[in-house]
Amino acid sequence: MPSSKGYATPNAQSPLAPFDFSRREPGATEISIEILFCGVCHSDLHMARNEWGQSIYPLVPGHEIVGRVTAAGKAVTKFKVGEIAAVGVIVDSCRKCAPCGKGEEHFCKEGATLTYAATDRVDGSITMGGYSNNYVVDERFAHTVPANLDLAAVAPLLCAGITTYSPLRHWKVGPGMKVGIIGLGGLGHMALKFAHSFGAHVVQFTTSPKKKEDAMRLGADEVVVSTDADAMKAHANSFDFILDAVSAPHALDDYLPLLKQDATLTMVGLPEKPPSFSPFNMIGRRASIAGSMIGGMVETQEMLDYCGKHNITADVEVIPIQKVNEAFERMLKQDVKYRFVIDMSSLG
Ligand code: NAP
Ligand code: ZN
Ligand code: ZN
Repeated sequence: MPSSKGYATPNAQSPLAPFDFSRREPGATEISIEILFCGVCHSDLHMARNEWGQSIYPLVPGHEIVGRVTAAGKAVTKFKVGEIAAVGVIVDSCRKCAPCGKGEEHFCKEGATLTYAATDRVDGSITMGGYSNNYVVDERFAHTVPANLDLAAVAPLLCAGITTYSPLRHWKVGPGMKVGIIGLGGLGHMALKFAHSFGAHVVQFTTSPKKKEDAMRLGADEVVVSTDADAMKAHANSFDFILDAVSAPHALDDYLPLLKQDATLTMVGLPEKPPSFSPFNMIGRRASIAGSMIGGMVETQEMLDYCGKHNITADVEVIPIQKVNEAFERMLKQDVKYRFVIDMSSLG
């Protein structure tokens, strides 16, 4: 069994600390990856602290993985040893149901297997995530990475990238549309880059006035500080689509009046406490509130290839793993530009 080392937390209250464990040898259709970089998603923090009530300990977080293939099973066709592979939020599914048949494994009827804190379908162990030196995964759940992109800045595409690309595509964001992005964090800044790249008029909503300049640089046509009631009112009844990427509890009632008739506000953020809203802010415009979760394997590869073609990656601050607890605290203070990525060579 390949020995693995990473950072884990033993319970919801403790910081992450060094942790040794093992992974299985790759099976016929599996690859083994030496992890080079792993992004720090706010979901890792929610999960490490059991804010969604589904965590299993010890918990090694991390689902924005980029690495080098170190071994490949005999039936593997997509990768050769030495090539780069990327892994996101899910690492397996039933592979037989209708959504799996369409490459929408995230909607698997039996439930997809998460990259960490889930029961592995192959060996029954608890999955351990990418804050570690290696991963073993079926090639179906690993992606190729365009050669022109910086690998540290690619890592966040595997969750923040696909989670924002997918709803923007589903709701057909493009030229002629006015689109709002709420929250300029890891997901928000990728949503901003994609919505701009797809040709929409993009308005970034933020609670952090100091992020205004960055938002314009990242592709916003306008920036609105959401605590400014007059600035919010000036956008009443004007949005075709709004994507909400906020990690903390907040009121949707600030945003619903900004939608046009029949427009949709889609939630990707998953705060510990659900956001509140009044139907009164929806009925007068037949507005919808929707939700979206990551993306399937087909669309994730499509997103990576789109990023290669258009030279899109995340804005990252690369940290050694020893700074991961500090990174969690800074994320809570909205002090990240705009994704922490762990350089796994720091594991030693
Ligand atoms: P993040 O980098 O911490 O960004 C969250 C942003 O929310 C912050 O930058 C901030 O933006 C805003 N915010 C934070 N606290 C706030 C508050 N008290 N009031 C209003 N706004 C606040 O987090 P992330 O990694 O992008 O993740 C965002 C959320 O998406 C998390 O809940 C995460 O679990 C979830 N998520 C969902 C999926 C999915 O499949 N649906 C996938 C990945 C992550 P401003 O400073 O601009 O206000
Ligand atoms: Zn994530
Ligand atoms: Zn399935």
